[in-house]
Amino acid sequence: MGKTEIAQDTYLVGIGVSPGIAIGEICLLSRQARVMEWQIEDFEVEEEIERFTLALEQAKVQLRQVKENVSSKPHLREHLYILDTHLLILEDNLLVQQTIAEIKKQINAEGALKRTLTKLRQMFDSIEDEYLRERRSDVDAIGDRLQRILAGEYDRDLGEIGKRSLLAAHDLSPADTMQIDKENVLGFITDSGGRTSHTAILARSLEIPAVVGLETVTAIAENRTPAIIDGTTGVVILNPSAETFKEYLQRKQTFEYRERDLLGNRELPARTRDHFTVTLRGNLEATSEVQAALKYGVEGVGLYRTEFLYMNRESPPCEEEQAAAYGQMLKEMAPHSVTIRTLDLGGDKVVSDMCVESEVNPAMGLRAIRFSLKEVELFKTQLRAILRASIHGNVRIMLPMISGVAEIRACKKLLHQVQEDLSREGVPFAENIPIGIMVETPSAILIAPLLAREVDYFSIGTNDLIQYCLAVDRGNEHVAYLYEPMHPAILRALKAACDAARDADIDISICGEMAAEPLYALVLLGLGFNELSMNPSCVPRVKQVIRQLRRQDGEVLLERLMLLPTGKEIAACIEQEMRTLLPDIFDLAMI
Ligand code: PEP
Ligand code: MG
Repeated sequence: MGKTEIAQDTYLVGIGVSPGIAIGEICLLSRQARVMEWQIEDFEVEEEIERFTLALEQAKVQLRQVKENVSSKPHLREHLYILDTHLLILEDNLLVQQTIAEIKKQINAEGALKRTLTKLRQMFDSIEDEYLRERRSDVDAIGDRLQRILAGEYDRDLGEIGKRSLLAAHDLSPADTMQIDKENVLGFITDSGGRTSHTAILARSLEIPAVVGLETVTAIAENRTPAIIDGTTGVVILNPSAETFKEYLQRKQTFEYRERDLLGNRELPARTRDHFTVTLRGNLEATSEVQAALKYGVEGVGLYRTEFLYMNRESPPCEEEQAAAYGQMLKEMAPHSVTIRTLDLGGDKVVSDMCVESEVNPAMGLRAIRFSLKEVELFKTQLRAILRASIHGNVRIMLPMISGVAEIRACKKLLHQVQEDLSREGVPFAENIPIGIMVETPSAILIAPLLAREVDYFSIGTNDLIQYCLAVDRGNEHVAYLYEPMHPAILRALKAACDAARDADIDISICGEMAAEPLYALVLLGLGFNELSMNPSCVPRVKQVIRQLRRQDGEVLLERLMLLPTGKEIAACIEQEMRTLLPDIFDLAMI
């Protein structure tokens, strides 16, 4: 069916997941095969099973081919595990056996696969944890690939895409994203997806502008439609008018000039005009990101999400492998510190041979520190690896999702056991490694003074804290309007944690997304945060803002904000204050 003509300056708004502006022509990538279901005869069942099995094999061949192509691109090598996940899904019993069972009910292979995928999606939909839901997009990607093979559709090679293209797809699988050639693809946009999907993470690694969650872009846009992608604001403009085009060209130049200019701040401290210094660190998922992070001027790693080392593989990494990975990061970051967060696994985010039973409510189930304290040997292996690596630099250990003092004590006891074992074995390790916790549950806020006595620092995981405090699933679009970082409850929660940290004289940082938002910098200064950890590419801008602010102004602002009854009013008050204090930055950035 043809599409209606696209009006000039058609604006669409999605989620900007990789900043920058790209201007070019749309290249539509059809990734979803049309699926028909019909009844087959009894004698056709074997044939359909065979067709399905062959499709599985062909999908494996395709994926291995992609893997081979990707292996030669150093910046993508670290993400090869995603392809391994997809290969694993193709072996998954539920997918394979369930589909075969459906075929045996005399349903054609495509229909049977569709039924299985619907069931799998329903299972994933009931999962609250954002990371776990990402597995659904991996299953979707595999499902689409299989359906395309069954339908005999030509799998368009991303290598064939023309110059200066803006890729538009319903959903880009990580396998697709990995094949993107930066020479040809200037940016990409998708109907579905969220901020923490693998695809979004890869877009940031590639440093190309991307907007996801546009819902209808592939229904509206056509091949070669001129378009503009603003990965910073999440705006996409189809068929831009000459004026819009000119305006965005200018914005693009300004953005790129500013980015280069901001990098000039690299060596400067993030110190306010009234001499309060904030340490800006990076959130990293892999050792291979260290050099790029240093380019942005990070002063260490405030959150190393080690679960990426464990996910999507058949067995957990051994002590050697972990010690090597941690050691390398510590060496490359030295003399800056690296905060290694112990496993934040749980539910489906567990590798296959250490499965926990599927849970009705995984976000509140056996995840993070609860999982580690149950799988003690696995946890001890990680602690041994961290300790062994500790001689290579400046390490801090961080425990995720702490909800009570007993958990901290249990972890410390295990750490002491591991230290004793290593000492007995004559294996060297650093003494006095700081131990901190992620403050991301309401209970941690309520007992912050008790927790502060037990640890060396707090790091606030605002992504989860907001989710748990406001009882709003951070990935559910239906309640997204309730996900307010500046809700009065969150402001009070942050204040309670800061007060407790100050009274106990321990450091306090934020490592959730809130830290990367320049607009919040003044409030965070007022609250007393002396460390912020964020996606490294956000560091220069946050630093630029901090250097022009006064902490005292933040304290005054905070007093005013504490009197306001709604998140909307608080957010509006902050915005107004920032526009007044830094008109050059905020007026331009917020148009
Ligand atoms: C958080 O919850 O804010 C956080 C930083 O951890 P993650 O996003 O990995 O859950
Ligand atoms: Mg968290």
